[in-house]
Amino acid sequence: MDIFSKIAAGEIPSYKCAENEEFYAFLDINPLVKGHTLCIPRREVDYIFDMEDDEIARFQVFAKKVAIAIKAAFPCIKVGEAVLGLEVPHAHIHLVPMQSENDLNFRNEKKSFSAEEMQATAAAIFSEFQKL
Ligand code: AMP
Repeated sequence: MDIFSKIAAGEIPSYKCAENEEFYAFLDINPLVKGHTLCIPRREVDYIFDMEDDEIARFQVFAKKVAIAIKAAFPCIKVGEAVLGLEVPHAHIHLVPMQSENDLNFRNEKKSFSAEEMQATAAAIFSEFQKL
């Protein structure tokens, strides 16, 4: 199993933001900004564009709900979305609350938050997701 499959299965700890039977969302451990979240399919697939049409459509709808929850928890101009996947070979969508275009620059130095702050951030997003 790859690292993100283990996270979705609960075998490696993560700061859970949202989940359903098919997808899982958790905080990026090296966030660009507070609330930077990753959405993944529970199924092991590396390249997002290898997903079948209906699966990628459901994945994007899941990411949309997570983005709405992030914006409710952490007011921002927009939640930006990015797909890189050069580091971890398991499809994932980055969701980043943006106050400016620069917030979605992956060359920026990553932020560091305490475990308590990360827990509180994830809990705030999870709470908003439950309302949708
Ligand atoms: P990329 O594959 O280029 O989209 O980058 C992978 C992303 O996953 C990076 O932003 C990492 O900080 C993040 N990441 C890697 N391992 C973990 C982990 N165990 N928990 C949360 N985020 C992770």
